[in-house]
Amino acid sequence: MADYYDVLGVARQAGPEEIKKAYRKLAMQYHPDRNDSPDAEAKFKEVTQAYEVLRDPQQRDLYDRYGEAGIRRGAGTGFGMGGFGFADAFEVFMREFGSGGAFGDLFQERRRTGPRRGSDARVRIRITLAEAASGVKKTLRVRLLDRCERCTGTGAQPGTSPVTCGGCGGSGEVRAVQRSLLGQFVSVRPCPECGGEGRLIESPCSECGGQGRVQRERRITIEVPAGVSSEDFLRLSGRGNAGPNGGPAGDLLAAIEVVEDPRFERHGDDLVHNLAITFSQAALGARIEVPTIDGSAELEIPAGIQSGQALRLRGRGMPRLRSHGHGDQIVRVLVWTPTRLSSDQREALERLAGIEEAPPAPDTKEPGFWQRVKQAFSA
Ligand SMILES: [Zn+2]
Ligand SMILES: [Zn+2]
Repeated sequence: MADYYDVLGVARQAGPEEIKKAYRKLAMQYHPDRNDSPDAEAKFKEVTQAYEVLRDPQQRDLYDRYGEAGIRRGAGTGFGMGGFGFADAFEVFMREFGSGGAFGDLFQERRRTGPRRGSDARVRIRITLAEAASGVKKTLRVRLLDRCERCTGTGAQPGTSPVTCGGCGGSGEVRAVQRSLLGQFVSVRPCPECGGEGRLIESPCSECGGQGRVQRERRITIEVPAGVSSEDFLRLSGRGNAGPNGGPAGDLLAAIEVVEDPRFERHGDDLVHNLAITFSQAALGARIEVPTIDGSAELEIPAGIQSGQALRLRGRGMPRLRSHGHGDQIVRVLVWTPTRLSSDQREALERLAGIEEAPPAPDTKEPGFWQRVKQAFSA
């Protein structure tokens, strides 16, 4: 992504007010509800992402010092592994300028009358790690506002149609001239007769009560692509709530939640599996079957492996989302010490104790061993 300061068109030393002002202007310009050009959504997301970082002094400092890498490293910034999506951008926008704020009113003002885009609907999809690896089709029930079929969204009983509001002449707003000591000024507010809609429904549709929309439960099948992780969003455009006055539907945003799998720790596209082996397997080597995300694999344990050492099954990790290839499965080998011994085992171990060598001292003898131990702790 381009430099955040360039994206917002501000200087590197710009103050918080200046940054907010620049964002406000650009967000208004590119908000997909207001701008139909095909790249508006991407631009909206871009300016919002830049703003979200630069408005926060701590994030801004990280960005100034390390660039985008600094931001990704910081935890709890809303920049999940799936990146900064449209849903995130919209949330930031609503938080900053949503209900009540001067900007929110301004934003609604222009679209008070006539068809408007419906709001986005949100659902959560829980899937297993194995489903995330293979991709999966999920069918869910979603409660949505649907266009009323009886009145085709107009809200008026079939055979009748809404009439223009006499109170405001259809503009949806009324102006009042007020005089004060400072002179006269004009105030504009929504028309109280039509609630700002600019039209009145004299005989409301018996199905939707004049709303033009009805709550309905819909079954929706969502194709979850292979490689997703929690915090990813899927956006189904035009599958959200129907718009007021017959306006187009919003989008359906599906938040993915991948349930943890006790067999694997996920690190991006790599999966880590902890494998306990016995001392004799470690010393003599072994072939061991280990679980993988799509079945199992035979793993060759080399003789003389140390506890904590990792073996790699290349290409057996998670598929890369919307890309090619897979991550790896990393098997972390841990030597298990038995806590209860049978008399045969005790005898064998005592025999071994009489003939085994002492382990290397930390300084010289076998630097390879100590290095591996250090690696195991930093991994
Ligand atoms: Zn209706
Ligand atoms: Zn009116």
